[in-house]
Amino acid sequence: MVTRWLFGDQLGPHFLADHDGPVLMVESRRVLARTQFHRQKAHLVLSAMRHRAAELGERCDYRREPTYREAVAHVGGPLEVVQPTSRAAVALVRTIAEEREVVRLPERGFTTSRADFEQWAAGRGGRRLLLEDFYRDARRRLDVLMDGDEPAQGRWNLDADNREPPPRGRPTLGVAEPRWPHEDEIDAQVRADLDAWEADGSVSFIGRDGPRLFAATRAEALAALEDFVTHRLGAFGPHEDAMLAGDDWMAHSLLSAPLNLGLLDPLEVVERVEAAYRAGDVPLNSAEGFIRQVIGWRDYVWHLYWHLGEDYRHHNRLNARRHLPDWFAQLDADATGARCLSEVLRGVRDHGWAHHIPRLMVLGNYAMQRGWRPDEVTDWFHRAFVDGYDWVMLPNVVGMSQHADGGILATKPYAAGGAYLNTMSDYCGGCRFNPRVRVGEDACPFTAGYWAFLHRNRERLEGNHRMARAVHGLDRLTDLDGLLQQERLRGSSPP
Ligand code: FAD
Repeated sequence: MVTRWLFGDQLGPHFLADHDGPVLMVESRRVLARTQFHRQKAHLVLSAMRHRAAELGERCDYRREPTYREAVAHVGGPLEVVQPTSRAAVALVRTIAEEREVVRLPERGFTTSRADFEQWAAGRGGRRLLLEDFYRDARRRLDVLMDGDEPAQGRWNLDADNREPPPRGRPTLGVAEPRWPHEDEIDAQVRADLDAWEADGSVSFIGRDGPRLFAATRAEALAALEDFVTHRLGAFGPHEDAMLAGDDWMAHSLLSAPLNLGLLDPLEVVERVEAAYRAGDVPLNSAEGFIRQVIGWRDYVWHLYWHLGEDYRHHNRLNARRHLPDWFAQLDADATGARCLSEVLRGVRDHGWAHHIPRLMVLGNYAMQRGWRPDEVTDWFHRAFVDGYDWVMLPNVVGMSQHADGGILATKPYAAGGAYLNTMSDYCGGCRFNPRVRVGEDACPFTAGYWAFLHRNRERLEGNHRMARAVHGLDRLTDLDGLLQQERLRGSSPP
């Protein structure tokens, strides 16, 4: 009898749709011992795995072993594995397959197959692998938001409708807070185990413990999807990029964690969202904006992880050499008086999550401005975020957020000063720094950091036509010397 070995991010029914025999799952403490994860991430993953094992009952051989190899050695007969999601896990399966029979099945949990992606990439004839083109191809191929051969309402892209700043004078977006899952006795056991392991010194964590906020079972994941579509999807589009200090969740779905645990299939998520649009329950800009994230960005990033090769993780084209400072690495939100940074770090410390724009334009932007090493930044994001996995972190951090790949993923660095943050958030209002000031006591560290970043990378960036104007702006600064001196002194200490 063939045993299907399920990894901890292969937990939904689609990973067992064609198999009704025995299942192996492995909880490896060594993985937790060698890496300092966010406490809530460790909780979520263990809770999700143990819930799945409980659902499968006798069928599931749930092994707690130091390593995967030791666990696999207990299983007699052939093994079957759905393509794992990291290069390291693929290599492990390959090595085990040299010693015993392992049937390797293609990936699941994404909407575009490897073959379709490679065919699309080959058809580009050397042109850039643009998200927008990939996404349109996926819309056509999957027949999502299409009216015959045309996109719904004749528009492929509604981004222009989706860049609104937050509503002024309101502390929250005013949409319903997400429906949180209820913890059960499995969560209680996970918490007790993590406490015990922490107490005996075998593991350590970053971040605070707290009630589990993200779905750990299929039922919770479906309920979270339904809750999002019913109560928040309609508001998702316009304020997708906005940030409010008093509203960590805004109208975001919080579905990345259950999607990446394999509890939801992305196509079922997209079909549910399209159905809400077709029923007239949500406007097109919200449905399209969301669907673009899932069949566009999520799949695009997944395929780039494999397509760009193993070396991609080592890219450091902006030659960023500083180490990640402890205050940032340890999520010390109180260390800094810069309100945006402090609020976003607080959110990560307390939930292991922030939405896309705080990740990109606050945390990532700050790391890039300060010249922190992209490999350390990637590792940190991976450990600190509940939805972080190797495949999704590498393109998002090395490429999109740190521009360390020299522009394969994004045509220009996502660098911005305080003016951007002031427009897109309410952080600056209560901040001791002033986004318009570059030098002196009130100088905003993002504004000053932006100019120091452009100065440091002038030669690398002035050939980029999307950056040339910004780089030439340096020549108009009469206080540049003072600004550079100020930022040199600041270094990586908390602003
Ligand atoms: P929503 O705003 O509701 O978006 C819907 C879904 O789209 C998400 O659930 C996610 O599955 C998908 N999605 C959107 N953008 C991306 C993207 N760029 N890459 C992959 N999927 C995307 N996403 C992760 O899933 N895991 C990560 O570890 C991760 N790290 C990131 C690090 C950085 C520096 C940046 C800039 C982005 C990162 N993202 C990551 C992408 C994105 O920020 C998160 O997917 C999103 O914020 C999760 O919240 P949500 O489910 O409410 O998303």
